[in-house]
Amino acid sequence: MLEKINIQTNCEKCLIDITDIIQAKLPKKSGIALIFVPHTTAGITINEGADISVRDDIISHMKKLVPKNANFSHMEGNSDAHILSSLFGVNLEVIVENGRIVLGTWQKIFLTEFDGPRLRSVYIKFIEG
Ligand code: ZN
Repeated sequence: MLEKINIQTNCEKCLIDITDIIQAKLPKKSGIALIFVPHTTAGITINEGADISVRDDIISHMKKLVPKNANFSHMEGNSDAHILSSLFGVNLEVIVENGRIVLGTWQKIFLTEFDGPRLRSVYIKFIEG
């Protein structure tokens, strides 16, 4: 199965918890789910979901690591977002056991928006096994 979800982001840069949305798309089986974000200025990551300040710290420090205006060549003005997309990556694999994503106690799956607000897509490919 291949599932596609659409997510309208409402921030320029933020981490959006999509764990429950992905969970809801999975069959009640065991296997691997490949999660893919088909964008060049967004990404996906797993990190702490309990304390929202962790998300804020990640974004604020990413802005320092890759400044928005750094004499880039790309004329679109969003080279920082392209760089952050590559740093985070656009795909994840997660273990699915009896229909449930296997995550640590504090872990959540986040869509990482770096050039929003935009309408984003996420593909989920489940492989039984
Ligand atoms: Zn661009």
